[in-house]
Amino acid sequence: MEIINRRQRMSSVARKIRREQDRTIGLVPTMGALHEGHLSLVREARRMCDIVVVSVFVNPTQFGPSEDFEHYPRDLTKDTAVLTDYNVDYIFAPSAEEIYPKDFSTYVNVEGLSEQLEGASRPNHFRGVATVVSILLNTIRPDFAFFGQKDAQQALIIRRLVRDLAFDTEIVVLPTVREDSGLAISSRNLYLTAAEQQAGSVIHRALAKAKESYKKGERHAGKLAELVRNTVETEPRFRVDYVSVVDAETLERLDKIEDRPILIAVAAYIGKTRLIDNTMLSKAKKDSSVAKA
Ligand code: AMP
Repeated sequence: MEIINRRQRMSSVARKIRREQDRTIGLVPTMGALHEGHLSLVREARRMCDIVVVSVFVNPTQFGPSEDFEHYPRDLTKDTAVLTDYNVDYIFAPSAEEIYPKDFSTYVNVEGLSEQLEGASRPNHFRGVATVVSILLNTIRPDFAFFGQKDAQQALIIRRLVRDLAFDTEIVVLPTVREDSGLAISSRNLYLTAAEQQAGSVIHRALAKAKESYKKGERHAGKLAELVRNTVETEPRFRVDYVSVVDAETLERLDKIEDRPILIAVAAYIGKTRLIDNTMLSKAKKDSSVAKA
């Protein structure tokens, strides 16, 4: 395994793999502090692709001024050890200056989708995500890139980005990996005490309740949202930022649920830590979650 810090080296290695060796490349973009959620993506990339590249980059442009960029957990040594076990071929770990040189001035914005849900609470967040993903896709030109359903809106935005700007990469979205308690695994869970992590399972329970209610025939979006909010708020340490019941493709808010896939997305604060989670409702009853591997 090689750790690459330079954009130019990364693109020349990737070019060689594609052109001279005719092998497929899978990219797993991450911000490091790797956990089972990331590793489920790495496993699938390993299964599907000849060469696996994992990028580890805490992307400054997707953090707001009062967010946790400075404190975001970083441990490249540990991440490298984990990825060695997973037989990853390359880690791309550039510095912020490498990705954003001094006179950097080109941003990518996926309009509409980026302003909903997370975008309403985190202005410019998805502009940062779309920009860095565009840079990664252009640098590496992977055949496949892997993302988690945990960040459902992000996955949707990236699919749209790739379609609109004709990136030659297939986007693969994999289910949310959870702790046994149901809490969606996240690097930000490291900020929580054991008791807070336990309390965090209420988010998944709330979503499961809404799903159950939907299965029993509830089609009123407001009622499902209220059920989720009320359930999360049974845990006094939580402050709900939003609960949204939206069309899973357009992210448009709904009153009445028709015969289309629905996304219920939640963001809630426990102390200063902001957690997000979601579930999909569809007639096919496809679950978007898996237990920890
Ligand atoms: P991050 O390092 O948080 O930017 O996440 C990198 C990728 O891992 C994104 O595509 C996330 O959606 C995905 N991811 C993060 N947590 C999970 C999880 N619990 N289950 C599945 N995928 C995840």
